Amino acid sequence: MAIDKRDLQKCIHCGLCLQACPTYVATGEEAESPRGRIYLMRSALEGRTPWSAIRPHIDACMGCLGCQTACPSGVPYARLIEGARAEVERHARSPFQRWVRQQAIAHFTNPVQLRRLLRLARGVGFRRAPRWLARMLGAPESAVALPEPPRTLWRPQACYPAAHGETRGRVGLLLGCAQWALFPEVHRASIRLLTLAGFEVHVPPNQGCCGALWVHNGYPDHARRLARRLFQAFEGLDFIVVNAAGCGSTMKEYGELFAGTAEASQAQAFSQRVRDITELLAEAPLPEPQFPAPFRVAYHDACHLLHGQGIRDAPRQLLKRIPQLELVELEGSEMCCGSAGIYNLLQPALAKQALARKVEAIRKSGADALASPNPGCTLWIAQGLREAGNPIPIHHPVELLAKAYPDSP
Ligand code: SF4
Ligand code: SF4
Repeated sequence: MAIDKRDLQKCIHCGLCLQACPTYVATGEEAESPRGRIYLMRSALEGRTPWSAIRPHIDACMGCLGCQTACPSGVPYARLIEGARAEVERHARSPFQRWVRQQAIAHFTNPVQLRRLLRLARGVGFRRAPRWLARMLGAPESAVALPEPPRTLWRPQACYPAAHGETRGRVGLLLGCAQWALFPEVHRASIRLLTLAGFEVHVPPNQGCCGALWVHNGYPDHARRLARRLFQAFEGLDFIVVNAAGCGSTMKEYGELFAGTAEASQAQAFSQRVRDITELLAEAPLPEPQFPAPFRVAYHDACHLLHGQGIRDAPRQLLKRIPQLELVELEGSEMCCGSAGIYNLLQPALAKQALARKVEAIRKSGADALASPNPGCTLWIAQGLREAGNPIPIHHPVELLAKAYPDSP
């Protein structure tokens, strides 16, 4: 993904994005702001500054896209940062560093290996990502707690029929990596609600990864290879349903990932069929939920749902359908929690500051539980809440909604 100079020129240096940027808010440094990074990208692209000199500032970006939402000038920051990251990997990272990062991404995005690694690490007593791993990835310390995966990897059926009456459409469910390995209950809830809403749900085997971590870390070729597998796996289905915000955001941008290639129109057509589970269900004729949930629930806006896909209302609407559930808003909800893919592993200091803000906002809200639409955020915020002594439960919005219906017959 090459940086298009015209995208850089759209920035009119107004600074309206600064307060939306968690790294600028944390540091007060222009070079850690969207405007500063755009300036640095331009300087590197024009050969005035080496990519190695701007690398720390590109690396420190969370890729949260808060700036893209705030920008009145339509600067496509997602495209810019992905392009800049690809340049950094090419020009400012040693072959060994590239190899380590690729190995980490390859293992984290394979649910079988991710589960195995986590069980192995926890089995020998690690409760955090080991410091040597953080050091190999270029981070000064290790801040990420290792979650306990389920004993076995959940194996879905190939097809789940619509619950009642006529089928409204045939949809495919993306299993993903962390969501599948660590939160299979989110998939089970998704299938339950989709079938209740009249969809026939297909779970194609051998779908693989969506490529989000690859494209966000500067490896678009790897992401394209993975996307091609998805094109085949989900062929012929009306919608591709995604319940992890980061995956859905990347899959909706496949058109850009393949821009200028012979597969551009295929990629574009695929992206147009991608739906976040909440946006599909918000418009679907679900029956009235039966069981109340008399709790105060705060909804966490995952960046790649809010800023990446522009989805704000759909998850809130679904939560409001649950009888007696009180939905509360979080202060600074549009600010990243610092999870950001593997950002918390690579940039622990800034990630921890962002987490502390989120944890404090949750405490202030007085919520009994949190709804989070992205597995990375769920893990990171759960860690923050645990460490702050406020370990309230965290669930995907569809899990909470599915609990409001009787179990499947
Ligand atoms: S993507 Fe997020 S962290 Fe990066 S410049 Fe934009 S607002 Fe700041
Ligand atoms: S808001 Fe947009 S135009 Fe203004 S400084 Fe930020 S990126 Fe540039």
